[in-house]
Amino acid sequence: MDDFYEAGTLVAVLTTQPLDRLLDYRAPEGGCAQGAYVEVPLGPRRVLGVVWGPGQGGWDPAKVRSIGRVLDAVPMRAELRSFLERAGSYTLTPLSAMLRLATRAPGLGEAPARRKIYRPGTGAPERLTDARRRVLEVLEERGGLSLTLGELAEAAGVTSSVIKGLVTQGAVREEEAPRDLPFPRLDPDLGGKDLTPDQAAAAAALCEGIRSGRYGTVLLKGVTGSGKTEVYMEAVAETLRRGRQALVLLPEIALSAEFLNRVEARFGARPAEWHSGVTVTERRRVWRQVAEGGAQLVVGARSALFLPFRDPGLIVVDEEHDTSYKQEEGVLYNARDMAVLRASIFEGRVVLASATPSLESWANAAAGKYQRLDLTSRFGAAVLPEMRALDLRGQDLPANRWISPALQGAVRTRIDKGEQALLFLNRRGYAPVTLCRACGQQIGCPHCDARMVEHRFLQRLVCHQCGESAPMPEACPSCGVAGKLAAVGPGVERLAEEAAEVFPQARLAVLSSDLFGTARQLKEEIVKIAEGGADIIIGTQLVAKGHNFPLLTLVGVIDADLGLQGSDLRAAERTFQLMRQVAGRAGRAERAGVALLQTFQPEHPVIRAILAGDEEAFWAAEAEERRVAGMPPYGRLAGVILSSTDVQEAFDLGNALARQDGPLRRVGAQVYGPAPAPIARVRGRHRVRLLVKAPKGVALQPALAEWAAQFRLRGELRMAIDIDPQSFF
Ligand code: ADP
Ligand code: ZN
Repeated sequence: MDDFYEAGTLVAVLTTQPLDRLLDYRAPEGGCAQGAYVEVPLGPRRVLGVVWGPGQGGWDPAKVRSIGRVLDAVPMRAELRSFLERAGSYTLTPLSAMLRLATRAPGLGEAPARRKIYRPGTGAPERLTDARRRVLEVLEERGGLSLTLGELAEAAGVTSSVIKGLVTQGAVREEEAPRDLPFPRLDPDLGGKDLTPDQAAAAAALCEGIRSGRYGTVLLKGVTGSGKTEVYMEAVAETLRRGRQALVLLPEIALSAEFLNRVEARFGARPAEWHSGVTVTERRRVWRQVAEGGAQLVVGARSALFLPFRDPGLIVVDEEHDTSYKQEEGVLYNARDMAVLRASIFEGRVVLASATPSLESWANAAAGKYQRLDLTSRFGAAVLPEMRALDLRGQDLPANRWISPALQGAVRTRIDKGEQALLFLNRRGYAPVTLCRACGQQIGCPHCDARMVEHRFLQRLVCHQCGESAPMPEACPSCGVAGKLAAVGPGVERLAEEAAEVFPQARLAVLSSDLFGTARQLKEEIVKIAEGGADIIIGTQLVAKGHNFPLLTLVGVIDADLGLQGSDLRAAERTFQLMRQVAGRAGRAERAGVALLQTFQPEHPVIRAILAGDEEAFWAAEAEERRVAGMPPYGRLAGVILSSTDVQEAFDLGNALARQDGPLRRVGAQVYGPAPAPIARVRGRHRVRLLVKAPKGVALQPALAEWAAQFRLRGELRMAIDIDPQSFF
């Protein structure tokens, strides 16, 4: 049981303000609990904080101020406090920034007021205008959530008078609702499927782990469609039976519609959702109910990891290899690793699910740190697609054409049978390069070192690095000659153009994230395609993520070599994962699928491993290479990015860091650099990087902290330290 502080006692408060230390305050009238969320005076302001422990003293007692107010929220538990501390010291993030991650719910301090919410009514609207239809659709879609007038108007893109009109007509109901209602109870014993022997064995192993009530991480590996989701749902069910809470992390919001339906079918109600698409009111509700125990299951994005669970027992990280689990801005953390850390503190289980695990998880399983469970076959009649290389060296492709005759033939055969084909190209836009044929210049971004990518659909040039965009110019920005700009290389839009010419009768659907304004439009498009609304799907890596297209039997990978080049340590691993995932799209239902990989280097080890389907061999070879080189997961890396508007300033600091490397050398770590970062300029700031490499098992973070603390950052200069960097930009 946590301590309670009587009125007037000195307590140390952690605030969300960027100070490097705790501040002493006096407990207010009525006292306060350890972990209480409080408002404290800081200078002229009042700021949010948490009672972190007994006061540290050392201040003039007369000057110590009182806590302003104790907020009406369940105090932060010791488990979460400890998690924030340990995650903060692992990622070298100040505690105040960690606290901000854990308090991302607006209006924490407000009293539970009553307010009006809107639900579907029984009447029908007099005239179904577009605006009215959108309102009803939003209500239908978000059935379980409570929406206020403002939120409903925004989600439907209408004015509030449209909604008020629907209320008068009885088509929408206006209700007084208490804030922050608990979520409907989930029934763990409702909709379980009969599992195959393989699945049942895996589920039993997971459930046994959960009953142990102790920490443990399991790598659940199985090809797409093998029933990993079914199996970890059993782990969720067991967790709920034991009265503990579960969290399922998913990499992409677009996925969750299908997923939420499955949860509802399995447990009889929808879970709490936590991601950027959730409204402000709903976030507050989730945050509070998670703390009070009124939410048993949360499905969310990586930031859900910092929710104040009352009694967490299980975290599932689905598609654990997905790079979106690494937060690349602000606090640089990897949600997969932080899930493991948090579970080790709350004494619960982690399930890492993937068809193509990260090398880190594969190695942890191989080393016995994680338990490994394999689902080896697909559920039902579905079989893994046959995979073949199409050697482009032998194909006669005219300039600006990317669909080889062999691939064309294969696509025709499939669509003649009423099946679907996917043409996969991991490049958004029309063409990656725009070249002036008069002066030879390529159009670059004015703020970055990246090229501007033509998006013909938007009629703009877009920088994929910083988001800068500009109308497509008539004349070359360098030499001013008009009419000489040429698109070089393919993007999905250009591929779609080619496909429309080659297959004039076919219905095409292009799935690329920038063609869809909202996650909802994207979901609708995916449902349409799954129901047979297209013959040929043209897509970027968006399609690699778990959607189920039962009619899809052919996957053509336009450029399997894309991603093999590049100096990134993980290039081979990424390419391997992406190709396997995409290939896994084909033939998920009864029909057998085939994946064809267009390549100029069919003998490349990664392409060979993909084709052979010999994953263990691929991982073992890749692991051995990294082990010899002392690279992760067999050694440790930290990236340091210095940025400034003044390039010299950044380099000067970089050189000074490289010279004064004593604290690092003492733990056997080496510094490389400074060098211009691969993307040397972003949003007008010059970027310089250093790389620190250390043997496994040394206390790297304290050494890094001591090393960095030798320097003061002045003016425009910024430094970010990225522990276990995933990308090297
Ligand atoms: P994965 O998560 O490995 O991709 P899923 O759990 O999504 O696989 O399973 C793929 C499909 O097969 C889903 O539609 C799922 O409902 C179905 N399925 C898997 N196992 C079973 C089972 N034992 N009984 C009925 N349907 C199953
Ligand atoms: Zn840019």
